Amino acid sequence: MIINVARYGGFCFGVRRAITLAMKTAGSYTTVCMLGDIVHNEDVINQVEQAGIRRIKRLGKGTGKILLLSAHGTPTAVIEAALRRGYRIVDATCPMVRGIHNIARKMEQQGYAIIIIGDRHHDEVHGIVGQLQNKTIVIDSTNAVPHRRLQQLKKAAVVVQSTQNAENVLKIIDVIKEDVRELKFFNTICRPTRIRQAEMRTMPLENDVMVIIGSRTSANTQRLCEISHSLNSRTHCVESRRDLKRAWFKGARSVGVASGASTPDATIQDVVDYLRRLSQYYKK
Ligand code: SF4
Repeated sequence: MIINVARYGGFCFGVRRAITLAMKTAGSYTTVCMLGDIVHNEDVINQVEQAGIRRIKRLGKGTGKILLLSAHGTPTAVIEAALRRGYRIVDATCPMVRGIHNIARKMEQQGYAIIIIGDRHHDEVHGIVGQLQNKTIVIDSTNAVPHRRLQQLKKAAVVVQSTQNAENVLKIIDVIKEDVRELKFFNTICRPTRIRQAEMRTMPLENDVMVIIGSRTSANTQRLCEISHSLNSRTHCVESRRDLKRAWFKGARSVGVASGASTPDATIQDVVDYLRRLSQYYKK
């Protein structure tokens, strides 16, 4: 059984940057708090918590405390509330996400209604919505396009959650175009997502079995799983080696291993080591 590891896997630069900043901050200040998760991966969250960063559900008294903002971005109102309560802010927002914020704000100032293609429950989308003054329209599939509402708009600008499925986004844009007279489209899917998705359009065809490693809460991992599944029904999405089942690999000549942008190298290596041992086992 040959094991083919994806060329592009493990932390993207935005996740790596956020973790480095979190660790540095934990080493420099006594009380560091985080609203939500720094990135969507349980191993990383544990690592950050072990470094002394406290996860909080709501803002308390902030004097003498640091509030660490996640890589996904944070609504402006939350930052303002934190500052009013006395927190000092350390911002780990990914520069690519900050770029989306800037585009959305600029287009809104120019009078465009803002449409976001993304998952309305995801932190990144909350963060984008939270940069804007007016109501935004969030669309996650071609079936969920609010035609009437769009037809009432004079002009609109579309931005995209950085980890969306590139093919789906283009399908949604084709539908939206029919409704809005003046439409500006900013394809803000980030480069790490694009190159991983591109690899995911060939790898499942070249391997008997696919294993995708990453958290169930990680949007970019879930998109890789969707793409791989659509091309190879023997795709298995796991969080770690513990989820693997030996029966999945029976008769497989090759296994492709890919991972999301917030999956630690150690978790990937653990899976690869297991598969190597399994391949020795099948040889006997
Ligand atoms: S997946 Fe893209 S947007 Fe998200 S943290 Fe990585 S580089 Fe930034």
